[in-house]
Amino acid sequence: MSDALFERARAVMPGGVSSPVRAFGAVGGTPRFVASARGAWITDVDGRSYVDMVGGWGPAILGHAHPEVVEAVQRAVADSSSFGAPAVPELELAETIVARVAPVQRVRFTSSGTEAVMTAVRLARAATGRRVVVKFAGCYHGHADSFLVAAGSGAMTLGLPDSPGVTPGVAADTVVVEYGDLDAVDAVFAAHPGEIAAVLTEAAPANMGVIEPPPGFNRGLREACDRHGALLIMDEVLTGFRVGPAGWWGLEGAIEGWSPDLFTYGKVIGGGLPLAAVAGSAALLDMLAPAGPVYQAGTLSGNPAAATAGLTTLRLLDADVYATLDSVADRVTSLADSALKAAEVPHVINRAGNLFSVFFTADPVVDIQSARTQDTKAYARFFHAALDAGLWLPPSAFEAWFVSTSHGAEELARIAAALGAGATAAHTGGADH
Ligand SMILES: *Cc1c(COP(=O)(O)O)cnc(C)c1O
Repeated sequence: MSDALFERARAVMPGGVSSPVRAFGAVGGTPRFVASARGAWITDVDGRSYVDMVGGWGPAILGHAHPEVVEAVQRAVADSSSFGAPAVPELELAETIVARVAPVQRVRFTSSGTEAVMTAVRLARAATGRRVVVKFAGCYHGHADSFLVAAGSGAMTLGLPDSPGVTPGVAADTVVVEYGDLDAVDAVFAAHPGEIAAVLTEAAPANMGVIEPPPGFNRGLREACDRHGALLIMDEVLTGFRVGPAGWWGLEGAIEGWSPDLFTYGKVIGGGLPLAAVAGSAALLDMLAPAGPVYQAGTLSGNPAAATAGLTTLRLLDADVYATLDSVADRVTSLADSALKAAEVPHVINRAGNLFSVFFTADPVVDIQSARTQDTKAYARFFHAALDAGLWLPPSAFEAWFVSTSHGAEELARIAAALGAGATAAHTGGADH
């Protein structure tokens, strides 16, 4: 049935999808249409069930359709799904974020991570009166024009890191640096004196596959920004409240004693509904209208159903949950490692908190160049054999794998078997889809 549906979809939707990676372009074959998902399991329209390692690209941290989240959202929606006026769920979600992340005093909600990062950049430009934003090659910050320069995620998977339709003027305001290279950051500051509004970085890159920030790198960015009067924006749309109770910052900045000027959140904080946020100090965030002059708005921003889903999710994310996620990540990475070793498939497993990805290369992966040394054809064979064996992996070699608290013994058994099948296929070659 998926095949027929995909054909119908291609007739009315570009590439048959609402977001590019879903189309399976990087792995070949036809995407499976999903009928439902519960816990760690996802079921397609043909009735096949898979253990899900994508988790809606992050939100399903407690597993899909968590009963408490479903119940809370059902109650919220029964009172109308959108008011276009202030409501309690967004207030309580903002209070929860402020309580969890010490440097955050104000939160502005948006409907997508893209909008959150756009707003962070607008704020940084307004606060500094400067134009240029520094980003890192392979980092993904959504699909706003100024971020589609050497972008990661689907843009990278599809070989479109620099999108047509982005004007040279916009591209000129974005300066790209290799990830992990503080000397290059210094050089960019030297080359653009008084012009750089902000350095924008993924707190821990996870959109060119997962790369743990080298020790001192994020702190070094903080120091470079301080030296040159620029703001540091840490994009935690993916890592925020996934890798720990205060996001990636809680694992690093909180311990080392530094913080970025602006954070962006998404994915987990929407509990699977469209919601994201930009957050930071009162001084910066109160520049936003109506408190200040920087315009930003949204018909569905702070949507009560989405805020309820996020709030209910965050309230369930206690220390036990993060310990569980870490141990599930330990188990799955060790299963992947032993399956690929047994099949003699060269691979590198990168880990950042409970996030990880498997690269089909023999060399360490520390930036976009090394990520590109992957054998993406081997990944495609691995992906399809695992899918046929009931494991739902990211349909791209450049994405993170996502664990949830619902990945228990039964799921791990399925994962082990499917990774074995995938590793064998990656080794032997065979049918290319
Ligand atoms: C997913 C993601 C975004 C974009 O969020 P959307 O909700 O897809 O617009 C931005 N930054 C990072 C780090 C992300 O992982």
